[in-house]
This record gives sequence, C-alpha cells and structure tokens, in this order.
Amino acid sequence: MSENLKIGIIGAGIQGVCNALFLQKKGYRVTLFDREKPENRSASYGNAGHFSPYASLSMNRPDILIDVPAMLLSATGPLALQWNYVPKMIPWFLKFVKNCTRKKMMHTAKYMHQILDLALPAYDELFRDVDVSGLVESKGIIYFWTDKDLKSRELEFNVRKELGVEQQLLKPDEIYDLEPHINKIYHGGVLYPSARHTRNPGKILIKLFEHFINKGGNFLNHNINNLVVEQEKPALKTDDESFTFDKVVIACGAFSKKLTDKLDEKIPLEAERGYHVHFKGHDHLLSRPVIFLNRGFGITPMDPGLRVVGTVEFGGLDNPPSKKRILNLVNNARYLFPELSEHYDEWLGFRPTLPDYLPVIGPSKNYKNVFYCFGHHHLGWTLGAISGKIVSKMISNENTNLNLEPYSSKRFS
Ligand SMILES: Cc1cc2nc3c(=O)[nH]c(=O)nc-3n(C[C@H](O)[C@H](O)[C@H](O)COP(=O)(O)OP(=O)(O)OC[C@H]3O[C@@H](n4cnc5c(N)ncnc54)[C@H](O)[C@@H]3O)c2cc1C
Repeated sequence: MSENLKIGIIGAGIQGVCNALFLQKKGYRVTLFDREKPENRSASYGNAGHFSPYASLSMNRPDILIDVPAMLLSATGPLALQWNYVPKMIPWFLKFVKNCTRKKMMHTAKYMHQILDLALPAYDELFRDVDVSGLVESKGIIYFWTDKDLKSRELEFNVRKELGVEQQLLKPDEIYDLEPHINKIYHGGVLYPSARHTRNPGKILIKLFEHFINKGGNFLNHNINNLVVEQEKPALKTDDESFTFDKVVIACGAFSKKLTDKLDEKIPLEAERGYHVHFKGHDHLLSRPVIFLNRGFGITPMDPGLRVVGTVEFGGLDNPPSKKRILNLVNNARYLFPELSEHYDEWLGFRPTLPDYLPVIGPSKNYKNVFYCFGHHHLGWTLGAISGKIVSKMISNENTNLNLEPYSSKRFS
C-alpha cells in the first residue's frame, strides 16, 4: 500500500518540492530535507522565471565550439571562467565536446522536447491546488539579435521547426510594436508564444512548499552529508542523526554530486554559475521577458523590479561571486535601457548541468530505492512539475508512455 511507504527527498528547490507534491498526491508519507529554510536563495529562487516549453535545443551544438574563444574574450559576452577552476573543469569539458556533434545535439533536443512538451500541463495540475494568481503571465518570450551570428539563429529556428515548436519570426518593427522601450539595436527576433513567465519564482516555490506542509508533508531543516543503503533501505545521515526510508530522492540541484559520489556512481555534474540583479521602478519599460542573444542575457519584468539575468561562468560551487560578471550584467542592461537607475540585489546561483544537457531522472545505478532528479541546467524551473510527476510514476511503478532511458544515470557508466 502506497500510504505505508515512507519517502525522503533531499533538496527543497523546485525539483524537490514538485517531487514531494506529486508523491504526496499518490498517498506516500513524504519528508523533505533542506539545509536551508524554504525561503532560501537557491537557483529556484533567483532564476529568470521563464517557463520555456520551446527550449529543446541546448548548448551542446556543433557551432558553439567555434564561438567559445570569442565569447571568452569578449568583455560583453555571456561566457566566463574562474581560472583557478580550469583544471577541475577539463574532464567535464571534454565530455561536453563529445556531445556537440549534430547527432548528439538532435538526441538531446528530441528528449528535452519530450519532457518540455509536458511541462506546462504538469504545472497546471499543481496550480489547480495552489493560488498563483498574479504570479504567472502568458505573454510569450522574445529573443532578439543583431545580424552578427545569423547562422546560429538559423540552426535554432530549423531544429525547433523540425520538432514542431511554435515560433514566430519577428522583423525589427514587430519587436518595436511589442516592446517599444528597448533601444533599437536589434535586426531580428523570434517570439515563442507558448512561453509563460513568473513574476516571482521564490514566491511560487514557497506557495508550493506551504501546500505540501498543509497537506501533511514533513520538512526537516538538515544538511544531509551521507546516504547509506542497508538491506535495500536507504538512510539519510546528518552529523548526528540517521533517517531511514523505503525510498529516497536526491534533488539537490548542482550539489547532488556530493551525494551521488557516495553511492559509487561517477556522474559528471557541473555547476554553470549565473547571476542576477534588479532595477526597481521601471515596470513600464517591459511587458514580457526578452533575451538579447548576442550578449547572452535576459530581462524579466518581476515584482522585485526588472530582473536582469545571465552569464554562464564555470567556477565550481565554492568560488566567491565575480564583481566583473555583475558589472557585465548591469552594463548590458543599460545597453538596452539607458535610463535604468541603480541596481540592487546581486545574486549568484548554480545551474546543475550534465555534459549532454539532459537531466538525470530515475533510479540510481546501484540502489533501486534511491532515485535521482537533478541536472536540469537552464531549464530546471520549467521542468520542475513534469520531473516530479515522472519520478512519482516511476516510484509507484506506473507507465508513463515515455522513453525514460535517455535520462538514466547509467548513460555515464
Ligand atoms: C541565472 C539563472 C537563470 C535561470 N533561469 C531559468 C529560467 O528562466 N527558466 C528555467 O526553466 N530555469 C532557469 N534556470 C535553471 C533553474 O533555476 C535550475 O535548473 C533549477 O532551479 C534547479 O532546481 P533544483 O531544485 O534542482 O535545485 P536548487 O534550486 O539548487 O535546489 C537544491 C536545494 O537542495 C538543497 N541542498 C543541496 N544539498 C543539500 C544537502 N546535502 N542536504 C540538504 N539540502 C541540500 C539546497 O539548499 C537547495 O535548496 C536558471 C538558473 C540560473 C542560475
């Protein structure tokens, strides 16, 4: 009987909370662990807030390797390295390069599309029970660009077309009609009408978390530093306590590797560091999220102000935030909106990323009662509900009618 099974979930970010809600719906007794309080500043709090069902094409693509050196050298570009981390990065980077063939790119796109296509309906199931009025808007997302790298834009457009993604190319005048306050530096763009955005990801996360607690869920504010399995029963260890469950889910985002390493599995998870800042009092400048592709950053209109988000920085989990990257975001934002005032709230977060840009969802290689749900890179906010739904079905041995093999951690062994 499902009611009698005890499930422990480590991590109360969007993945952990959505797992908890879908498992709770099935009648399991769920305990959620996080070393921080629910209102913490994890990736799930500070992201750009896009629900992006269109975004099946990831970073592993043949053209990216040609662009990397120029991106690293550019003062306005999206890519950065913390040099002390370069030696640690090399194994991940070599695996990433192997995943940049056209064939691998299409494999990733196909299996990202498979779950992205179900992402919004899965959220709608959760939002039926939680009041998110005023927090989610359906105005689409605009990406725009200058003529400089049109080839990359063609590739994106064609792959998405092949997958049946709804997209609408925009001429400069059409971008102006939709968002008239942006400095007219662009030569073209695309609107993804199916995209939504939230005005406050942190608030939605807390609402989902509170719903879990109100329905009888249990939360323990602990750091889990080890996981052992004895007679098929996983036990989660803190410094001085041990909690035994029938099944557990590791949903610690970019920190998940610290636990999976203890289960004799070498999963090549890296952190792509990203930043945000806010500008208050400029709500009239933007009505929907925009992304300026040449500089790899975006702006989302949110309750705390215009949230400027971007940068892919490889520097691990322990290096301090880079002031240079914050300045880069601020300057880029002013390039689009010269009238912006002083920024506030400098934030660094960690995107959990595997070298093939597919998440890990499913049972561990060595222990059938330990499940993984992490590695959703730039799309972990979008994929929270559907990933939780998939794990809940796996745990209750229900058919999903999906091919879930591409998300298995076994692909790295
Ligand atoms: C700058 C930026 C912009 C982004 N924009 C978007 C976007 O617009 N749309 C989108 O879909 N995605 C976006 N993402 C990606 C998305 O935010 C992440 O993929 C997603 O939030 C990851 O969720 P998570 O629950 O896996 O991890 P997290 O949100 O990182 O949560 C993990 C939780 O686990 C806890 N934890 C870790 N280790 C332990 C432990 N040992 N014991 C107890 N607790 C532990 C942490 O405290 C944390 O609360 C963005 C990310 C960044 C950084």
